[in-house]
This record gives sequence, C-alpha cells and structure tokens, in this order.
Amino acid sequence: CGIVGIVGTTNISDRLFRCIKNLEYRGYDSCGIAILSEEGIEVRKNVGAVDEVNKTEHLTEPQGHVGIAHTRWATHGGVTQTNSHPHLSGDGAFAVIHNGIISNYRQLREELQAKGHLFASQTDTEVIPHLLEASYQQEQDVEQALLKTIARLEGTYAFAFVTTHDPTKVFCARKESPLVLGIGSDSMFLASDINSFIEYTRDIVILNDYEYALITSDSYLIKDVKTGERIPRTVQTITWSP
Ligand code: GLU
Repeated sequence: CGIVGIVGTTNISDRLFRCIKNLEYRGYDSCGIAILSEEGIEVRKNVGAVDEVNKTEHLTEPQGHVGIAHTRWATHGGVTQTNSHPHLSGDGAFAVIHNGIISNYRQLREELQAKGHLFASQTDTEVIPHLLEASYQQEQDVEQALLKTIARLEGTYAFAFVTTHDPTKVFCARKESPLVLGIGSDSMFLASDINSFIEYTRDIVILNDYEYALITSDSYLIKDVKTGERIPRTVQTITWSP
C-alpha cells in the first residue's frame, strides 16, 4: 500500500524506516525492507505494524546506501511473512516492492514456472522479479529488462526495485498508482506519497502513468515507457504541509 526507495551517500536504513512509518496512515497489514550492499541484497519483512516488525526483524540493522521499503495491503496471497514485500528473483539479484494488482499474473506465473522459475509466495507481485531476472538474462541491461518486463504487465502498479546488476540506483515505474520523487541535498527518494519523505525534502518531481524513473544519490532520470526517451521535468517545491 506504500512504497519507498532511497539512495544516499551514507547509511539509509534509519531514513527508510522513518519513511515507511510516515506511510502507516494509509493502512497496511505487513511491511518490509531490502538493503543493497557489497554482500548482496538483504530482505527483512513480516506481518504487523512497522514498530512490531522492527522488534522482531530489526529493520534498521542492515547497512547500506541503497534500499527500498514497503507497507502491504494484501490483495493476492494471504497475510504471511512470505507474501510480504520485498520479493526476490530466483537468483537473488532483484528485490521488488509493488502497490496495485498485476491482473495477468496467473498466466505470467505459469509461463515462468514452465521455464523453471520457482515461486516462493502466492502474490501477484512475485512475477515482477522473475520477469526482471528472465529479461536481464536476455538483455544484459537493467533498463532494457525493465522495459521488457513492463511490456508484459497488465493491471495497475507502482513498483520499485534494487538490483545487484546496477547497485547504485533504485528503479521505479508507474501505471495508475501514484509515485513521486524527492530531491534531497545528499540523497534521492521515491515514494507513493510526499508525506513519506517530507521531513527530509520538500523538493519533488511527480511521475505520470507510463513513465519509469531511476534515482542515484545525486541525480534522477525520468523516461517514457513507450519511446524510451528522456522526459525533462522541473522540480516543484512544496510549501504547504501535507
Ligand atoms: N497486490 C500486491 C499484494 O497483494 C500488492 C498489494 C499492495 O498494494 O500493498 O501483495
């Protein structure tokens, strides 16, 4: 029900935690984080409130400069630790969080299973990391893998991911679910709403449907899903209190 991504120049785990805490008001049943570091991607997730999950999973323990976090409102697959987000690809190279519903997930799942992909959860979301992994194997390029994945998805989504193939970035895409970038002084944010990161920055860039974006610690790039072309968009400064 809420997604967050951060790339910083120092450890971001405390900020990730604050940012999902700030999304609690949207309602949710589980939450989780993924942090990327030299050792790979570490996922911590479980059922319950952010503070509760933090007590058992120690969400801020993993250290890194690149990460994502999620609050889940289950639509497909029960409320369990395994079904909580982030979801990993089979090879562990992609970790994905998602808001919305992938309506053709059954077909995609069967197709991927027939190719040997093993699924861990009952969610619609888990097809995304598996599609990214399969597309990356063909394309050897994360942005191309993202475009190939988006082309297969039906339904609604705002999703974000980190990958060991390009470890200084967080990638995201949207269709009929909100997504906004936050331009910080020494870090970049993305979230499903401004409240998430407003305590860190009031400079924002809104994403539209059929756009994808990537953030690094000091830059952002928005592109059109259909043409692959870069979309220039100016930063707005929020003066009101959300
Ligand atoms: N459909 C996904 C799930 O059930 C995402 C739900 C959400 O938006 O939180 O896991």
